[in-house]
Amino acid sequence: MKKIIAVYPGTFDPVTKGHVDIIKRASNIFDRLNIAITETNINKNILFSIEERVRIIREVVDELQLSNVSVNSFSGLLIDYMHKIGATVIVRGLRAVSDFEYELQMAYMNRNLDPNIETVSMMPYIEYSFLSSSIVKEIFFNGGDVTEFVPDAVLKYLLKKREDNVAGKENFKD
Ligand code: ADP
Repeated sequence: MKKIIAVYPGTFDPVTKGHVDIIKRASNIFDRLNIAITETNINKNILFSIEERVRIIREVVDELQLSNVSVNSFSGLLIDYMHKIGATVIVRGLRAVSDFEYELQMAYMNRNLDPNIETVSMMPYIEYSFLSSSIVKEIFFNGGDVTEFVPDAVLKYLLKKREDNVAGKENFKD
């Protein structure tokens, strides 16, 4: 039987418990799940480099012990990357109405680029429905506690980033 390979694309800067929730749900449904980290995002001011984001998510996925989940980075069109790895499903997280319009637009655009690709939107556990990477960065770099919002590995990297204290507060925002 044909194995269904899904990709979960995103910036993951950094990965939050909301992302992890979606990763677990999707890994239960699809034969294989590839977390595909976008190397660049012109709309976002990135805190962690692509190498750091890959390393952080790999650490998080290792801890979850999900044998059908892999982590990679990609640049260029998601559809091209999917063709390369034989993936046919795009997994996205849907938190609130505010996500809906953008996600719908992306889904239609990707369908337009390849009608054989399906986008599946998944809702996280309600406690994570307000959570985003940018809110985590905002709280953390203003001295707040983000322990309940991110996996332990992420906290470790955030603390290290603060120690390294790169180029001022502006860099920590999306
Ligand atoms: P992007 O730049 O592609 O939006 P993100 O890392 O912000 O990258 O998000 C990747 C995907 O994960 C998106 O589909 C987003 O809606 C989803 N997502 C982000 N935060 C959460 C959350 N707390 N719960 C569920 N899904 C989420």
